[in-house]
Amino acid sequence: MTFTAHVDDLRHTLNHVVGLPQQIEAGLLGDLDADLVDAVLEEAGRFATEVIAPLNRVGDIEGTRRDGDAVIMPTGWKEAYRQWAEAGWGGLPCPPEFGGQGLPMQIGLAAQELWNSASMAFGIGTVLTHGAVEAIRAHGTRQLQDLYLPKLISGEWTGTMNLTEPHAGSDLAALRARAEPRGDGTYAITGTKIFITYGDHDFTDNIAHLVLARLPDAPPGTRGISLFLVPKVLVNDDGSLGAANDVKCAGVEHKLGIHASPTCVMAFGENGGATGWLIGEENRGLACMFTMMNSARLHVGMQGVAIAERAWQQARAYAHERRQGRRPGTEGMVAIIEHPDVKRTLMTMKALTAAARAICFSTARAIDLSHLAGDEAERQANKALADLLTPVAKAFSTDVGVEVASLGVQVHGGMGFIEETGAAQHFRDARIAPIYEGTNGIQAIDLVTRKLPMEGGAVVERFVSALRDDVGRVMASNDPGFGQAGYRLSAAVDALEEATDWLQRELGGDQDRALGGATPYLRLFGLTAGGVAVARGALAATKAGDGSALARVNLARFLAENLATEAPALAATVTGGAGALADMPAEQLAL
Ligand SMILES: Cc1cc2nc3c(=O)[nH]c(=O)nc-3n(C[C@H](O)[C@H](O)[C@H](O)COP(=O)(O)OP(=O)(O)OC[C@H]3O[C@@H](n4cnc5c(N)ncnc54)[C@H](O)[C@@H]3O)c2cc1C
Repeated sequence: MTFTAHVDDLRHTLNHVVGLPQQIEAGLLGDLDADLVDAVLEEAGRFATEVIAPLNRVGDIEGTRRDGDAVIMPTGWKEAYRQWAEAGWGGLPCPPEFGGQGLPMQIGLAAQELWNSASMAFGIGTVLTHGAVEAIRAHGTRQLQDLYLPKLISGEWTGTMNLTEPHAGSDLAALRARAEPRGDGTYAITGTKIFITYGDHDFTDNIAHLVLARLPDAPPGTRGISLFLVPKVLVNDDGSLGAANDVKCAGVEHKLGIHASPTCVMAFGENGGATGWLIGEENRGLACMFTMMNSARLHVGMQGVAIAERAWQQARAYAHERRQGRRPGTEGMVAIIEHPDVKRTLMTMKALTAAARAICFSTARAIDLSHLAGDEAERQANKALADLLTPVAKAFSTDVGVEVASLGVQVHGGMGFIEETGAAQHFRDARIAPIYEGTNGIQAIDLVTRKLPMEGGAVVERFVSALRDDVGRVMASNDPGFGQAGYRLSAAVDALEEATDWLQRELGGDQDRALGGATPYLRLFGLTAGGVAVARGALAATKAGDGSALARVNLARFLAENLATEAPALAATVTGGAGALADMPAEQLAL
């Protein structure tokens, strides 16, 4: 099935959900204007459709392969990456002083969504390089920035993130990779990292690995972790490439999905120590890595949206083509999209995708405004909002990716289970996103234990109050197209508030009760925030006289009346479900 770049949905989200034109008008986004945004979206859409999307299937079938020490990408991938880099796509949201285009993250995210809808396995490599750029920019020395950033931004080199070790996955405190100071400003890095995305490949001559490791005298736990830049090939002072570093790919994993993304076991320092340079301060590596992880978490959330979009497009096309069953008053078999149950499935797919997209772009907006807003208080408020929304963007959206891709298989009936249609690939590809970049369970815990208590609860309170204002505007519009949406969304916001208050109270007492409700709480948060944002966008589109406004109002209504109605039940699960967990000791699960 061919991929069609969903530029209209992205333009709608930027214009009407996150208010890009208002940000431009307020002078927050430099010389960005609507024409430039359109040009970027259109051209990114063309590139995604014509160059990346045709690689998706061959990438799935061939996967990556090892040839001696080298990792070889599937047929056509290297050439596509070369074109992508030469077109300057790697530099969209990067600093101009290092060759980037200085565009806001909101635009970078839109382009990323297009790459990832076209092929998730292609998109994830570019996401990690961008994360490396952000970490080096925020915490690297000027010398490292000058040596590495122009090449990473131009795509001449790529970047990776090396956290995971066999015994240290979610619990990074357990990591053992070592860094010995050599006395010349460099460190000898030794240790094994697993599951490293794009750890090796034949796209580029060099790879900048960002590696977490411990110094010899480091305190135990997460306070004793430092961050190092360890290039695959050493870089001379003039930027030219020198000798190979003591780093190699020791194996490539065979996976359920994203077969064309090389997931590598990385061996550092088997011959005395890989040369690494400290990023940020000693023992403060996790904080530096979080610069990269927060960006990566939002972008992995966006991958959930991207794969949901791809699965939805394919299911919609199939539902128009496939004829099966009859409808009263028609002759012969009808296209399955005519059946209310199939239509409901398709609308669920579309609505969940729109909700997750709205949350991801709202997070990107908050990140942009945390740097660009006019005064310090606004910058701080947006930083806090971005912190609050990041785990929701990551976990809600990637759960949506899996759910929508699964529904996409269902719409295809038996053909969905057969590989040729491609629906199965989307489902397999989608499955990684709730796992990497911090599992969704860990995101829910982060939301509940770290984000809700921010500023004594004031951050989440402000957010809930803004949701109420949006719902009030939908109701005040008196637009009959919204049906019962205002009432349903209002009930969802009540449910979110009730569950939030309950969690805040429990956090001060029995943490396990709060932790037991974390995952349903995150779903409640996502459905409510996403539902309200989709309605806000539909209302704004109506006011702007947008041609697609009617359909967007219908979608917002469907979401509110059919999906956000889960919110009160989810609140009851959060506040009333923990008892059963507490009363069931782990050993009873063997029964
Ligand atoms: C394809 C792929 C690509 C990856 N890319 C990278 C990469 O580029 N760089 C990198 O460093 N890593 C990468 N990873 C690793 C990935 O981030 C980890 O797999 C992930 O963080 C989970 O760690 P784990 O696999 O050890 O699972 P575990 O930590 O063993 O978790 C198992 C389960 O237990 C739950 N759990 C664990 N601890 C807790 C807790 N305290 N409270 C509640 N629940 C808990 C988890 O939610 C999960 O459901 C990748 C993994 C894969 C499969």
